[in-house]
Amino acid sequence: MQTTGGGELDFDVLIIGGGPAGLSAALQLGRSLRSVLVCDNDEPRNGPAAEAHGYLTRDGIPPGELRRLGREEVAKYGGEFRDTKVTDVSRDDDDGFTSTLDSGERVTSRKVVLATGVRDDLPDTDGFEEFWGSGVHHCPYCHGYEVRGEPLGVMVTDQHTVDYAKLIYNLSEDLVVFTDGQDVFDDESRSVFVERGIKIEDEPITALNGSDGELESVSLADGRNVARHALFYPPPMEQHSEIPERLGLEVNQAGLVDATRSQRGIGFTSVEGLFIAGDASSGSPPSIPSAVADGYAVGATVNGELSTEDFEGGWQ
Ligand SMILES: Cc1cc2nc3c(=O)[nH]c(=O)nc-3n(C[C@H](O)[C@H](O)[C@H](O)COP(=O)(O)OP(=O)(O)OC[C@H]3O[C@@H](n4cnc5c(N)ncnc54)[C@H](O)[C@@H]3O)c2cc1C
Repeated sequence: MQTTGGGELDFDVLIIGGGPAGLSAALQLGRSLRSVLVCDNDEPRNGPAAEAHGYLTRDGIPPGELRRLGREEVAKYGGEFRDTKVTDVSRDDDDGFTSTLDSGERVTSRKVVLATGVRDDLPDTDGFEEFWGSGVHHCPYCHGYEVRGEPLGVMVTDQHTVDYAKLIYNLSEDLVVFTDGQDVFDDESRSVFVERGIKIEDEPITALNGSDGELESVSLADGRNVARHALFYPPPMEQHSEIPERLGLEVNQAGLVDATRSQRGIGFTSVEGLFIAGDASSGSPPSIPSAVADGYAVGATVNGELSTEDFEGGWQ
């Protein structure tokens, strides 16, 4: 890192977001002797969950511990950190970027990697947010095994989630499908579930009940309580940060930025010098192993771009 006039910090690469994607990109760039600053305002997507599953050699690790270990590795290669929000990024005339941090500092960098993640747009049903990450789960691969064989529920509120419900059936035959008052099934698709002993509840959900993070039942509009130990639901996602849209990046119907891939690498956006990695990008299925893999590849891509520029003529 160099300090320029006026209290500005100068790095090869600014990484916005210090989750699995951002830290993985930082590791590759640090190991390539690039100066890297990672800024993170500590709002990880999986923050509500006590454990993270499915990441080989780290299965069951608390999300905060994974990040702590990641930072430790990045720091070994000179990576620096600021626990702060990046509030603005603008492209400079000389092809670099100037970014403003909530701490008041300004950062100039040759490249910027957005690893800002997504937010889950949860229904405002009573108890939903309280049990999110403990009794209500979005991903059967992340938290399904832990509740296998238990009385489970799955919210199927549109056509896209019908196949998702089949994944939950594989975890427990005591499964109730909740449509939350939505008209999702015709007679034929309903019978596919009913024939397998899966109950379908069409009443709107009014509340989720339990204590100490343990889900106990789902209340329905007609006054009944259906006992369930866990509920699965994949909510719509939206960009965590407003920076991608502010920089003119298009967000697709799924709420993700379409990153492009070329012979030169992956994670390119429509803005020259600006890259995207992890959940925020359509190129990375939403999980920790995918975010780490994507961050690794985007880090290598950015290093390749910097090397190409240093030789001015591009790759031969
Ligand atoms: C409840 C829950 C449990 C999950 N459990 C698992 C699991 O067990 N296994 C698994 O593989 N996946 C799990 N996931 C998915 C996993 O959390 C994500 O796929 C993964 O965290 C994506 O990593 P990321 O680095 O792209 O984003 P994130 O981990 O969300 O990190 C993005 C970071 O960017 C920061 N940020 C955003 N904007 C700014 C800004 N302007 N300035 C500074 N910082 C900013 C945020 O604060 C955040 O720390 C779970 C998800 C949820 C919702």
